[in-house]
Amino acid sequence: MQAKIPVGILGATGMVGQQYIHLLENHPWFYVAYVAASPQSAGKKYKDALKGGWIVAGDMPQEVGELMVRDVADVKAAANNCAFVFSAFEMPDKDAIRNFENAYAAAGMPVFSNASAHRATPDVPMLISEINPQHLEILSAQKKRGGWDKGFIVVKPNCSLQSYLTPIHALMQAGYEVEKLIITTMQATSGAGYPGVSSLDIIDNVVPFIGGEEEKTEVEPAKILGSIKGGKVVPHKGLTISAHCNRVAVSDGHLACINILFGKKKPSKEKILDIWKKFRGEPQELDLPFAPKQPIIYRDEPDRPQPKRDRNADKAMAVSVGRLREDNIFDFKFVALSHNTVRGAAGGGILNAELAYKKGYLE
Ligand code: NAP
Repeated sequence: MQAKIPVGILGATGMVGQQYIHLLENHPWFYVAYVAASPQSAGKKYKDALKGGWIVAGDMPQEVGELMVRDVADVKAAANNCAFVFSAFEMPDKDAIRNFENAYAAAGMPVFSNASAHRATPDVPMLISEINPQHLEILSAQKKRGGWDKGFIVVKPNCSLQSYLTPIHALMQAGYEVEKLIITTMQATSGAGYPGVSSLDIIDNVVPFIGGEEEKTEVEPAKILGSIKGGKVVPHKGLTISAHCNRVAVSDGHLACINILFGKKKPSKEKILDIWKKFRGEPQELDLPFAPKQPIIYRDEPDRPQPKRDRNADKAMAVSVGRLREDNIFDFKFVALSHNTVRGAAGGGILNAELAYKKGYLE
């Protein structure tokens, strides 16, 4: 058996960082060897640095609890202790996050990021492993531009995207061009990190605004669906998206209602269901540890998917869809759900790293 690979978590004390630590416990290929957070947490034992305690499922892995938290700025220490990092730290200044992630890549470490800082960088793949695994090919151009030897940066999109973009991609891949989408999201409180929205603001309430979220929902899909030219991603043209994003009183699981308008060719309802049922991506073909067996699960019940009942489908990595029906204005409408801190954050990041490892990008 091969030795496991030591990995680092940047932002290890936060909501997504904790989810990484939880999900990587007993991972067959990777183990958490290094944790970093803000200067306020640096120097403390991990178990003493958590402001609100351990807030994800299960118990904190004991060996991680004993690790000393480092400052995210201490790139050298990370380079000495791990082979690559998952980046899940938050800072008000996006340029600062971008500069840190560049510094890790320059120090020879691949970075799998959850932050939005590098999502618009044309030679940084924004990966949903089932949709655009081929975008990893631009890493050689990215490394050349940065003058980086082993380091590179791969990012994940916004946490609500995977629920609706995976079923949309499956239809486009089957030859049905999609022209317009209206997307209304109902997003869980954990999407705002810890401690997030105050209880008095969210209990008995819906907040019809999440800063920056509608812009990300409308812009990011074009890059994920894009093609590669000259070592960069050329965004997909011809798909217009209009989004409403709401914060709702749900702990985990972002739900989205989607209205869809096809181009010249419009599939039947039966055809759509068949495409979703048969859809598989490269993670499934490669049988990656975090790959859900069936990436899109269609629920026949009239009142599903629901966050409470469906967010944990297949290790919380599957997307659950339902309520597919004809639309009076567009062609069809449906509901989609995925777990925001697993599929939409740490689990999705781990799957991206597994894909990169299996395809030989992690030397
Ligand atoms: P969070 O719970 O607020 O955690 C923030 C993390 O950043 C903590 O570890 C914190 O460390 C660290 N941090 C804060 N200031 C820092 C500084 N000046 N230097 C270095 N580290 C600093 O946030 P989160 O929800 O985990 O989100 C983390 C990242 O993932 C964000 O970029 C977010 O947009 C993205 N994301 C979140 C979700 C989600 O569902 N929550 C989904 C997808 C992507 P201390 O404990 O030391 O302050």
